[in-house]
Amino acid sequence: MTHRAGFVNIVGKPNAGKSTLMNLLVGEKLAIITPKAQTTRHRILGIVNGEDYQFVFSDTPGVLEPAYKLQENMLQQVNEALTDADVLIWLIDISELNEASEADFAKRLKSTGKPVIIALNKIDLAHQQKLEQAVEICAHILPGAEILPVSALHESGIDFLQRKLISLLPEGPPYYDKDQLTDRPERFFVAEIIREKILMNYSREVPYSVEVVVTEFREAQEPLLIRAEIHVVRESQKAILIGHRGQALKKTGTEARKDIEAFLDRKVYLELFVKVSKDWRDSETQLKRFGYR
Ligand code: GDP
Ligand code: MG
Repeated sequence: MTHRAGFVNIVGKPNAGKSTLMNLLVGEKLAIITPKAQTTRHRILGIVNGEDYQFVFSDTPGVLEPAYKLQENMLQQVNEALTDADVLIWLIDISELNEASEADFAKRLKSTGKPVIIALNKIDLAHQQKLEQAVEICAHILPGAEILPVSALHESGIDFLQRKLISLLPEGPPYYDKDQLTDRPERFFVAEIIREKILMNYSREVPYSVEVVVTEFREAQEPLLIRAEIHVVRESQKAILIGHRGQALKKTGTEARKDIEAFLDRKVYLELFVKVSKDWRDSETQLKRFGYR
């Protein structure tokens, strides 16, 4: 029996639906999803095993022009994803597609020499005519790429995408243990769940100024004791996060705890602390401490 294994990397603009597609392909909620652009900051691997194949999917931060060091790091992760892929999925929000804005990225993809599947996402929101136009544009800017219409949210076109992916996977042994789901430890996902709740509960610049660090994870304790720090850039943001009489932070904490309990399948005691770390997004040392490689 021949075994196939390889890295399938999902790239595309912020909000195209990359994290939604990744979670769907992996069958687990690994990546956080919100309607806000730039939700994803880290590359996360999701491993899918069959008897004779192993997919290593990765979700990447959206492609954008970097304005601060954090975003430079995010862009670096995209470049890595282009380099180490066996197959690339270029996910495009069909309503956002236009030839002029995508041509440069198409060139970059072409220069990798890797097989590319263009997945036209959010077809649930598009008319037939729009779809036909989109297919034409894609065929023009990236000749030879496979073009598949999908809806990650409504799970349509996914079977076909999976079959296509298997056929493009190189022959080879598995890269990871067959019972491994991801390359990240549990506490990473705990921090991401807390960050997701903050993204959902606060507006304007707060979500983009926040980083979450799990400082304690006491497995032996029942319920499991988790302490996490929420770092913000300014005092005023700290006040907003905590809210009147701590109500806002309490809501965030309760929502996060429920999701963490579901993710870890056990009772959790969660404590959150808000700290001001001026300039963490532009400090090499801080970014390292927060796990940006
Ligand atoms: P990412 O920034 O590329 O990772 O995008 P996300 O996966 O975080 O999704 C961004 C937003 O698009 C979320 O609100 C998703 O629910 C939504 N979304 C993703 N896929 C679809 C789809 O197929 N149809 C529709 N209507 N919305 C989608
Ligand atoms: Mg994402």
